[in-house]
Parts: sequence; structure tokens; C-alpha cells
Amino acid sequence: MARGRKYTYHKGFLADNALDFSKRSSFIKEILLERVNPSRIILPCKQHYGVSAIPVVNAGDEVKVGQCVAMPPKGKFSLAVHSGISGRVTSISNIRMPNGIECPAITIVNDMKMQRVNSMRHRESMKLDSKDVMGIISNAGICGLGGEGIPTAAKIDRARNCGVRELLVNGLQSEPYATSDLMVMSEYPGYVVNGAGACARACGAGKVVFLLSERRKMIIEVISNAIENAREDFSDLEFEIRLFRERFPQGYYRLVAKALYDVVLGPDETLEKRCGAVLFNCSTMCACWEALSENIPLMNRVVSVTGDLTGGHNIIVPIGTPVSEVLPDGGRGGDTAGPLVWGNALTGIAITDPENTPIIKLTNAITVIRRQETPRTPCIHCGLCAQNCPMGLSPHIIYEMLKQGMPKKAEEEGARTCISCGICSYICPAGIRLTQRIAKFAAEGKIIGENSLLHNTRFKYDIEGIGDLSLLEDYVSDIPDEETSEDPDAIVLPFDGGKIV
Ligand code: SF4
Ligand code: SF4
Repeated sequence: MARGRKYTYHKGFLADNALDFSKRSSFIKEILLERVNPSRIILPCKQHYGVSAIPVVNAGDEVKVGQCVAMPPKGKFSLAVHSGISGRVTSISNIRMPNGIECPAITIVNDMKMQRVNSMRHRESMKLDSKDVMGIISNAGICGLGGEGIPTAAKIDRARNCGVRELLVNGLQSEPYATSDLMVMSEYPGYVVNGAGACARACGAGKVVFLLSERRKMIIEVISNAIENAREDFSDLEFEIRLFRERFPQGYYRLVAKALYDVVLGPDETLEKRCGAVLFNCSTMCACWEALSENIPLMNRVVSVTGDLTGGHNIIVPIGTPVSEVLPDGGRGGDTAGPLVWGNALTGIAITDPENTPIIKLTNAITVIRRQETPRTPCIHCGLCAQNCPMGLSPHIIYEMLKQGMPKKAEEEGARTCISCGICSYICPAGIRLTQRIAKFAAEGKIIGENSLLHNTRFKYDIEGIGDLSLLEDYVSDIPDEETSEDPDAIVLPFDGGKIV
């Protein structure tokens, strides 16, 4: 099944002890994925690219598991939000999330009865055309679970319009400590493979390609078996596994374009148009199959609770679960007294209020980390940031250009292609927060790039609402200015065995 060739790109790093950590933590087949049933959930209405959904429940209402509690405003680029618990709505008030997004949030107190809506049941007929698939996935509130939050139906639609040949499934989770995607593939391989098959058909692609790490032997085996089981139902599709060398970062579409097709994407180029391929996260494919086969909306997700100060494990939580409810001591003391990171170790955001910070659709990890401050000094011109930037940028030069108000020159240096991987800040011996400044600049440019997604999407959304550039502005303002930042980028990992390769 897997071809002999190993795909990779140059640079990045291999953090050996983090990999060892994930091996010796809960990522062991015998340990069942534990489900957390929180006392309450806080559901922000904007967890995706696009405008906020609008609450369709009121304080005092009783809700059930799977119930839609917020709907997209008519004709706008948005996504529905569903409850993963049953209970009573106690309040609807504005929330400001760690990424800076402000929106209404619905708080539901759990009655622990787990009463489900009747609509969640096995779908009898799976004869679904593209429009059906996109409709079900859109109504289920599914966006990319790998970090970007683009509504999946819109991405399918763009891929179809671009005439893609291959659907790529990103199973390359490479952030140190995080193993949630690997756990999803391990526990639900059939859902991942079937979801990918159904989405490939909806995109008009003839081939499904799984991108897996060469070192994850068990994952390669379970996905291979699931492919064999799915062959009959998807006899019109070709399946393939392509193996990648282990390193961080992996799976970003620009790096995938380079590794698989030897294509360097320009700032405004897409994988779909340039390479004829569309990339989805493996957990997104799993969620799609849940929606397609059982009509289950996106209301739960697998999260790694991890870092060097926790035991490290993966759990299933209802979306909206406060961070404090997934840590044994609420994140306030004992063994987990280190800084809390909402997200992954290198790209996540430090938080200080775990009781009121919810796990959202995009949160694949809660990381508790020992802080190791690197004393800040002027650049010593060691060149490490440039040697390790996976995009081949010179972060120290771009940083200086941006600092001195020369955005055009920074753009010429390729700043817009930064993928915000965090390596340059992590590696810098002078403690300079390069990622923060460069990623903000790159994100500002993304408004234009992502807007092409909106213009290329004909499905369900009203073009008038879609063309509004301001819809994406919240995401650009998420990254705080370095000078005013609360220091979210200052987490430095204590990798003793991290190898620069
Ligand atoms: S954050 Fe951007 S500039 Fe820094 S290493 Fe990653 S891609 Fe390169
Ligand atoms: S890693 Fe830090 S000190 Fe070294 S060249 Fe880059 S910015 Fe300068």
C-alpha cells in the first residue's frame, strides 16, 4: 500500500524527547479514549472563518445533545453550533477568546441526562450527490479541525470548482506532544477513510491519498486495513498512502505542495489550483463521516491534554468544555501549575483563565509547559532562524524590515509565505519573538488569499455576503502586537533531545 519513497522537505526539526513522550503517554492501543462529561459548556458562536452564528436559544431553555443552538445568519459565510450535552441554557453573553475573537457565547449547565435529539440516527441511504454531502457537512457545523477553521463544505466546493484530482488526508500531526489526530486515526480509522472517500467524490477527485509519518507503524497498519474494508463501497476511487519523514512542522499545505509536488506556492496560490489537490485534516474526515452516516453534528472532539508537566493523555470532550474541566486540579496548582497553552506547544496561546476559556472546534491540545525564559538580547546573527525556517525565509532579516517599517521589502523577502510554525522564535538564542511579528504580517495578507476561497464558493452562501473582506478581519487582529502582548509567544520548550535536522 505505502510506496517506498519517503516524502519530506528540508529544514524543520525533530524533537526526539517529545516524540518519546507521546509514545509513552496514552497513545497506547490498550488505553481507551476517555470521555469527559463537563458540568457546563461555553459555546462561542464564532469558531470558524466567517461571521458569527446567531443564537437560536434563550436563557432558561432546555437543550439536548446534538441540538443546534446557533445558526448562520441568512446568506452569510458562517457555521452552525451544536450542543454536546443536555441541560439548561443559563446565559448568553459576549466572550473574548484567547485568539482575540469576540462573539456571543452560550453557556449550558449539564443535567447529566445525555438526552439526544431524535435526528441523530443511522442514515439508511448513502446515495448522496455532491450537493447533499456539502449540505449535510455544512448543517453539521463542520470546519477544518486542524487549525484553520475553514468551513469544510466551502472547501469541498472550491476544490470541485478547481477540478482537483487528489484529495489528501493530513495524518501528519507533528507538533511536539500533541497526538489527538493520531488517536482519531487509531480509534476511528473506518470513519476517517470513509469520510475521505465521500468527500473525494463530492470534490470530484478520483484519488484519496493518506499522508502518514513513516514512524507511526500502527497508524499505517490500521489505515491500510480500513482502506481494504472500504474498497468495495468506494470502488470508483483509488487509494494510496504516502509516507513522510518525521519532523516538525509537517502537514501545512505549503509544505505538502513542496514535499509531494515539488511546487513552491506563491503567497496567493492555492494547492487546489496549482497542484490539483485539496488537503483535509484526518479528524475533519472523521467528523464528516459521523455527519454523513449517522447525522451527528460536530459537537465533540478529541483533545490532547499534554506537555511536560502532565501525565499526557487524549480525551473526547463536548466542544465548549472549559479548560479547567480537563485538568485534574483545574489547572490551578499541583502538578499542572505551569503555564497553560490553549493549543499546541509551539503555536498555541498562553491562557490565564481556564475556568472561562472553552475548548473550541479548533482546539486540538491543551498543553501545560514548564516555562524557560530565554533572556532577551539583540540579534547575534547566528543564522539559526534562517537555517531552520521550513519556508526557506530569513526571519531575522524580515523581522528587522518589519520593525523598521519596510513592509514592501519584507514582502519581497517572502514574508507572506510564513506558515506561523513558531520554529524561529523557539530556536532563537536571543529570545527574539520573530514568529509573532512575521506571522501577523503574513496573516494580514491572508485576507486577500482567503477571499479567493469565498469568491470561489458557490454553495449555499450568498455571494453578496461572501465578498465582504471585513468578514476575515477578526482573524487578522488575533495576533497581538509584540509590544502589547501578554507574552503568548514566550513559551520555550524544554526539549533536551531536540535535534535540528
Ligand atoms: S514562523 Fe514563519 S518565519 Fe518563523 S520559522 Fe516558521 S515559517 Fe519561518
Ligand atoms: S536566531 Fe535569533 S539571534 Fe540568531 S540570527 Fe535569528 S534572530 Fe538573530
